[in-house]
Amino acid sequence: MWKSNKVAGLFDKKHKIEKEIEKIQRSCKHPTKTIKSIRERVDSSSTIIRWICDECLLPIGYPNKQETDKFFRQ
Ligand SMILES: [Zn+2]
Repeated sequence: MWKSNKVAGLFDKKHKIEKEIEKIQRSCKHPTKTIKSIRERVDSSSTIIRWICDECLLPIGYPNKQETDKFFRQ
């Protein structure tokens, strides 16, 4: 029963995809980065500003005040 459960199958896929992303992010050297506004959490509607790696999309740092101001002026 469990094996044929559609949601369980999707969770299994999600887990594999997350592992794959994690692997890419861990081996990534983050050559270029861009300031982006991202959701604080998956279930949250509030956004935060972070430096995001262009290659693996991992948040890799906090922009300083000057960088944040520049981002909002764009
Ligand atoms: Zn990266």
